[in-house]
Amino acid sequence: AQQRYASIRDKPATTLDGTTISLHMNAGLMADLPSLENSGAEGVGLFRTELQFLVRNQMPKRTELAQLYSHVMDAAKGMRVVFRTLDIGSDKVLPYMTPQDEPNPALGWRAVRVALDKPGVMRMQLQALLRAANGRPLTVMFPFVAQYDEYTAARAEMDKALEREHILGHPLPENLEVGAMLETPSLAFAPQKFFEEVDFLSIGGNDLKQFFFAADRENERVRRRYDTLNVSFLTFLEGIVNRCVTTKTPLSFCGEDAGRPIEALCLAAMGLRSLSMRPASIGPVKSLLRRTNLGEVREVIVQARERGDQTVRPALMEYLRNTG
Ligand code: PEP
Ligand code: MG
Repeated sequence: AQQRYASIRDKPATTLDGTTISLHMNAGLMADLPSLENSGAEGVGLFRTELQFLVRNQMPKRTELAQLYSHVMDAAKGMRVVFRTLDIGSDKVLPYMTPQDEPNPALGWRAVRVALDKPGVMRMQLQALLRAANGRPLTVMFPFVAQYDEYTAARAEMDKALEREHILGHPLPENLEVGAMLETPSLAFAPQKFFEEVDFLSIGGNDLKQFFFAADRENERVRRRYDTLNVSFLTFLEGIVNRCVTTKTPLSFCGEDAGRPIEALCLAAMGLRSLSMRPASIGPVKSLLRRTNLGEVREVIVQARERGDQTVRPALMEYLRNTG
């Protein structure tokens, strides 16, 4: 199958009606990096930094992390890498941190909430990222931001780290982007100034969908009950896209659905122009995008919405069968 996609590896994901979607890959370990070249990804849209914490039995040191991040940037050869700060709690528990006894870990003390309450680890991580960049461009993203002040507080930590590096005489990144993941419905309704201030947003579809439908992403009984192509969910995503268009906020989508060809098609039809997925999905997603007329897919969705269909899947599958 990889061979089948090799012929389009260096071609853009441009639809028949001329819309180009940029495709990036998700990564988290050094072992993922060779895929950057093989997959045809334009960069790393989500680097899950917690994986390097999860494979250890003690807290990594700053120098060690800086070295790792530096290797990641070297391997990316100037392509953009979006480093997500530590996303722990809920399904990701570090063996060397005090376990939290929470009745609902997915709704609990996790990700940026931990980072803001106990900023030591995030400070160390931001410093490691700045050292690793050593003057190169740097992109950092905070996970699970649920409201505006969490973003400003996390960004203030970055500003402090920059100040410190400057005083110590270390080079600052020639370009720095600081973004947030949109993973809770609340953030979609944040004030306009949030959208203006944030350098970019990335939709964490796995969590966003879990909270949109109130259906645990880890619970097999309810997980598959709600379709990503549910009209309500697609309409919600479209609202986020529209807000970002208004404020010119760069937006991408990095949940697992980005790597499912049919889902990716609908995300593109809803206006998303940047998708990040596991490397093996880039070929199949690109292949389908290149064979499809996005305007027609959009029309299928609009009609399904007008008819009151719960999900656009049946109508879309029929359309795809008819167009070959
Ligand atoms: C997501 O929630 O969609 C996401 C990309 O982050 P994770 O799967 O690591 O929670
Ligand atoms: Mg998430």
